[in-house]
Amino acid sequence: MRLAGPYQKHFSCTCLMVIFQILNLLGLASFSFANEPDFSLKLNASVYAPGDVVWCSFSSPLPVGSATLVWKKDRIPLAYFEESELFGAFFAIPHNEEPGEEELGVEFLQENGTRGRRKLIFKIVSKEFPVQRLTLPKEKVSLSKQNLERHLREKAVIKQALGNLLDSRVWQQSFQRPVKGETSTPFGVRRVLNGEPRSSHSGIDLRGVLGEPVAASSDGIVLLTGDHFFAGKSVYVDHGMGLVTMYFHLSRIEVNPGERVRAGQTIGLLGSTGRSTGAHLHWGLRVHNRPADPLSLLNLFPLP
Ligand SMILES: [Zn+2]
Repeated sequence: MRLAGPYQKHFSCTCLMVIFQILNLLGLASFSFANEPDFSLKLNASVYAPGDVVWCSFSSPLPVGSATLVWKKDRIPLAYFEESELFGAFFAIPHNEEPGEEELGVEFLQENGTRGRRKLIFKIVSKEFPVQRLTLPKEKVSLSKQNLERHLREKAVIKQALGNLLDSRVWQQSFQRPVKGETSTPFGVRRVLNGEPRSSHSGIDLRGVLGEPVAASSDGIVLLTGDHFFAGKSVYVDHGMGLVTMYFHLSRIEVNPGERVRAGQTIGLLGSTGRSTGAHLHWGLRVHNRPADPLSLLNLFPLP
């Protein structure tokens, strides 16, 4: 695959530089200086919403040994793509992020030992997530001591697995929907259960029929499988570079942890296990351990 974008030309004309820097401030152009080596820092768009996945690429005319994306408290190593001579990384905008202008930086270490930093401005717009109000009998809502302990045990296992991810790229080309069905519940829906606010929907629910094959979204290594209290039979796939997809409420799991899976390969069958009210697939995505909208990952490809 080719990830390279066009290199920015050096501008000697002051007017052009001013225009260029205004565009850069608006997030519409990559950052480049006259009379300086031709560094290029780009995002796939200039405006994002909470829950979106962002693709950041960086290229340098001089040999660079390592590069790190810096945004607020995020420090994400950029992976190097030899075929396009680009560094790249994914990150996600938190679902509760406030709108505004944001500065993103890339810090890099040249092979001659010189450190450098480039930055750009991008914009986050507000997004109103729908509210879903549910009323359930009390005994269905409050967990027994035994179930709570089980849930906490499972949570610790998941946390440990998610703390040990592959830095290198395993994903190929693009990501695909795991089933054909439409979205029934989108990402980020704020749930109110018996009048009390609960955590927002961390993935998307896709319609489907019981026993339907569920496909891996892209190439990856199976990180974890389990039969969990809330998620039921679950598969977690690590695609590398901070991308993990999750498939919940399966009726059957057809892969084992550590196994390599290909894009489109059946990893399980759609079901209604765990806390589910009917057959569907809950498809989740984590980007460097932050829940994000899987549909926004699909929309990223082909990468610019
Ligand atoms: Zn769901």
